[in-house]
Amino acid sequence: MLETRGLTAFYGDFQALFGVDITLARGETVAIIGANGAGKTTLMRAITGVLRSARDQILHAGTGIGHLPADTIMKRGIAMVPEGRRLFPSLTVEENLLIGAQHKGGRDLGDRIDSLFARLTGGPDPAAMAGDHDGSGHWSLETVYDLFPILRERRRSPGTALSGGQQQMVAIGRALMSNPDILLCDEISLGLAPVVIRDIYAALPRIRETGASVIIVEQDIGQALAVADRVYCMMEGRVTLEGRPDTISRDDIHAAYFGAA
Ligand code: ATP
Repeated sequence: MLETRGLTAFYGDFQALFGVDITLARGETVAIIGANGAGKTTLMRAITGVLRSARDQILHAGTGIGHLPADTIMKRGIAMVPEGRRLFPSLTVEENLLIGAQHKGGRDLGDRIDSLFARLTGGPDPAAMAGDHDGSGHWSLETVYDLFPILRERRRSPGTALSGGQQQMVAIGRALMSNPDILLCDEISLGLAPVVIRDIYAALPRIRETGASVIIVEQDIGQALAVADRVYCMMEGRVTLEGRPDTISRDDIHAAYFGAA
């Protein structure tokens, strides 16, 4: 479904990825672990087209996509929950979710924000706008609210009035609204209390039930091993370990994380 082959990535002259090979099968959940600066976020940025690479360094359903821009990648059904949530502060929970619904409909961000402002000044209501996207998948405002009921209660609140955990739920819901085949989650538990992390991760099985493949970037190794079918560990821009959680030992992970002693 998704594959990187010898993926390289650069920030100017600085090389951040050195030939990364990963695969993600349909319906699979893969975790990427590694210390700060290992290249995990850079890998997500490359897959989502925020950083460009060579066409055949990233394959989606057998087609080279490494050269494509981020909006085209999104329209192919690859969505990202970015590190730090990045909600639109002036928009409500519901409007932030609707921003995600427009991606598969092929409009650019400017059009989507225009239509949200049009709604605020008497344009179409949110339900009508939700119906505007191609509707070919499981996720809609209602199913996102079923996944995270607190968001239904807070649908009229501005994104900034939410707790960190609720903001993370909106960020996940926004990505789901595009009905992605592949969902990339970058450090979704960062800075959240354990009880909130548990609630967020409880959503993962229901996301998987829709048939989506998931990549999670996770600093918490225990969490990563608990939820993933397979794990990759990265260090200094390279994959240093790959395996199923039940086949890799603590020592393997320690060596892959920090380098051999
Ligand atoms: P973290 O957990 O801290 O987010 P990470 O594994 O996601 O770490 P990346 O953020 O991908 O790591 O960073 C990989 C390398 O690229 C690091 O050396 C980092 O300093 C560098 N880097 C990241 N973003 C940029 C940028 N915008 N410009 C220059 N260098 C960058």
